[in-house]
Amino acid sequence: MQASEILKIHTSGRNEDDFLAWHPEKFGAFTVRSAYRLALDEQLRSDGRQATSANPLGTSTDWKLIWQTPVPPKVRIFAWKLARNALATQVNMAHRKMETFATCTICGNADETTYHAMIQCPHARGLWSVMREVWNLPTEEMLFEHNPDWFMHALKRLDVDQRVFFLMTMWRVWHIHNELTHQKQPAPIEASKRFLMSYVQSLLLIEQNVVVDLEKGKQSVDQLKGFSKHGKPAEKRPHVKDKWRPPDEGVAKLNVDGAFSMDGRAGTGMIMRRSDGSVVFAACRQLNGYADALEAEIAAMEEGLALGLAWEPGPFILESDSADALMLAKEGTPNLSRHAMRIKLIRDRIREREVGLQKVSRDANGASHGLALLGRVHERSGVWLQNYQPEIAEAIKADCISPV
Ligand SMILES: [Zn+2]
Repeated sequence: MQASEILKIHTSGRNEDDFLAWHPEKFGAFTVRSAYRLALDEQLRSDGRQATSANPLGTSTDWKLIWQTPVPPKVRIFAWKLARNALATQVNMAHRKMETFATCTICGNADETTYHAMIQCPHARGLWSVMREVWNLPTEEMLFEHNPDWFMHALKRLDVDQRVFFLMTMWRVWHIHNELTHQKQPAPIEASKRFLMSYVQSLLLIEQNVVVDLEKGKQSVDQLKGFSKHGKPAEKRPHVKDKWRPPDEGVAKLNVDGAFSMDGRAGTGMIMRRSDGSVVFAACRQLNGYADALEAEIAAMEEGLALGLAWEPGPFILESDSADALMLAKEGTPNLSRHAMRIKLIRDRIREREVGLQKVSRDANGASHGLALLGRVHERSGVWLQNYQPEIAEAIKADCISPV
């Protein structure tokens, strides 16, 4: 169990006896699958007994192919389990006497080995074929091997970008597999394609800009000069300003905003903070050819959600000052506008983490507004995870300090 998980357990104030709760499934229900996962976690832990912090797996350099690929931690962990043949496939569960049959419950055509579930089963083939249209992915023939190590062998032959595409597609295939085995209707394949493309786009943006910002150093700061002039909320407003409020403990808050000018230039600003005000990420993007302010607000929502899902493991709420964008994002509102594709993606992301939606006043949305201006006026695109620049720090502070 991770330390952060342990910290989430609330201890009783009274002197009660400890009790055991079956936590791997929500609501404490016991299932074969949760027992299987728990058994596997034990096995994985003992596999890693020799580990050191410099070499978390205590094994050969092959693991670097997974741990050094720039995908979110949850995708790396998934890939690691896959590589250890530790996914809950029918074959693996039958082997452990947790299932009677090894046959694939989705297609019924073959034993559900990891290779079958990830590559050959019709649901997997469907996603691989649409993703091959847009990404440089290995063909099914290239992946085929009578070797249980087929996955690591494949990784070895790929460059880093291909590994990102490969692992992200695998991760999504397994997600669809789980929806199907839990009798849920998975999202249409085109939605999975859009989801993956936009997710990877935001990952690559992070990769590029984190590196760029470290290298540029002073240059970036120079480019940002004058930002506080534009980014700070106007100081001469007579009314008492509303202030940004931190979220409750254990929940993060994502603020998004779009900025737009009549020449079609636009910017988006996205910032996620925790209850103590610490920043998970701050991001902005410069956009061109936008039709109106609403389109920029929607773009900010879409990208903010992608970043939030990638960089915050826990629950979060989304705040926007655009009532129209919030209304469109809400399940149940007819989704027939020309923004329909984006809205669909936004709703998928909201569902993925059950993100709460909240309207906030413009005054209390100052940091994301400042970031959006940074994108629009200063034509900056970037994501800052920790070491953001003083100008950005100033914009964030603008949210928390009430004007005199
Ligand atoms: Zn199958």
